[in-house]
Amino acid sequence: MKEVKIGTCPFCGGEELIESNVSSMTSGVCVSKSETRRAILFATVCRDCGSVVRLFCKTPENLYPKKERRE
Ligand SMILES: [Zn+2]
Repeated sequence: MKEVKIGTCPFCGGEELIESNVSSMTSGVCVSKSETRRAILFATVCRDCGSVVRLFCKTPENLYPKKERRE
């Protein structure tokens, strides 16, 4: 997984960005209760203005095995 670096908040210019666990989500294509199909959703939130700068999943490979990824 590539690393994304966010230096400052694009909305207020704040430099204090925190990562927070939002919830868990499951694949919409193949709904399964298997833990391997689950990935945790995280948000990068600006501590100064509260904007959600980025939403991301820390384990995207858990949603789709690489070979069956959508095109
Ligand atoms: Zn901000």
